[in-house]
Amino acid sequence: MSAEIISGTEISKAIKDELKVEVTDLKEKHGVVPGLVTILVGENPASQSYVAAKNKTAHALGIHSEQVTLPEDTTEADLLALVDKCNMDDKINGILVQLPLPKHIDEAKILYAIDPDKDVDGFHPVNVGKMVLGEQCFLPCTPHGILELLERSGVETSGKEVVILGRSNIVGKPIANLMLQKRHSGNATVTLCHTRTKDTDFHTRRADIIIAAVGVPNLVKADQVKDGVVIIDVGVNRIGKSKNGKAILAGDVDFDSVREKAAKITPVPGGVGPMTITMLMKNTVQAAKQAAGLE
Ligand code: NAP
Repeated sequence: MSAEIISGTEISKAIKDELKVEVTDLKEKHGVVPGLVTILVGENPASQSYVAAKNKTAHALGIHSEQVTLPEDTTEADLLALVDKCNMDDKINGILVQLPLPKHIDEAKILYAIDPDKDVDGFHPVNVGKMVLGEQCFLPCTPHGILELLERSGVETSGKEVVILGRSNIVGKPIANLMLQKRHSGNATVTLCHTRTKDTDFHTRRADIIIAAVGVPNLVKADQVKDGVVIIDVGVNRIGKSKNGKAILAGDVDFDSVREKAAKITPVPGGVGPMTITMLMKNTVQAAKQAAGLE
């Protein structure tokens, strides 16, 4: 058996096509143009390319996007003042502060200063709390993307054993919460593994769905999964460089061996990755609709 590939590239394209129509409708019928600001502090090359990709996608969808780039030595007070200005700006519905921030800035302080109604990354405690309670809120983009991948590729989660590897605040913990919510794309029995888990293989071998977010290349091998498992591989690990200098990426799952046993699997690249930016756009459109009283 060779697994069906869950293509994040194709699914994110479908969502972007839907968003484009929605953005056009918002503009034509309600005079509403969703607005996103991205704030980058310093010159981290990975962050620069993430922010550029976010602005490019926003632009392509008809979302008004502003990019603010600040020097590495920007003070916490100046960054807080900028966030505050964006909180007050009616043109801006979504505020994204690119992480990581330079060491002298307290990330939590900055993220908590963002108006929860403009927190399109879904990291503010108000949105995290609402997510846990199952209330309407901005979901963090990567877990939100995983929900869409599962839903749109017809993976039933209700009653399934979902094993999540990794307990970070941006992926592991929120996706665990979402999987156990009492609603569609939830209702799973959830196990969350981390470095202190005694026998991770015991859990992965009985899993119907494995969501791997550990940051260890090819950690999950074929002998650690059962036949027919669904694999969502969140890992993005740089394992080398091609001749033309491009990074060679690997996921947290050994794709070549595991795909022979799995029913469905996401590739790396082209799986979860493309969904993250797309869900940021979806959250921005949602924020604009809420601000205009349309949702
Ligand atoms: P992170 O903050 O680096 O945390 C890694 C988690 O994995 C920790 O909870 C750690 O456990 C656990 N872990 C590490 N080795 C393990 C092992 N051998 N067995 C079980 N658990 C283990 O993780 P992250 O930020 O969520 O990132 C994880 C991966 O996803 C990275 O490759 C990252 O690049 C990728 N990622 C991709 C996207 C995307 O858009 N595609 C978005 C976010 C992250 P402890 O807590 O015990 O240390």
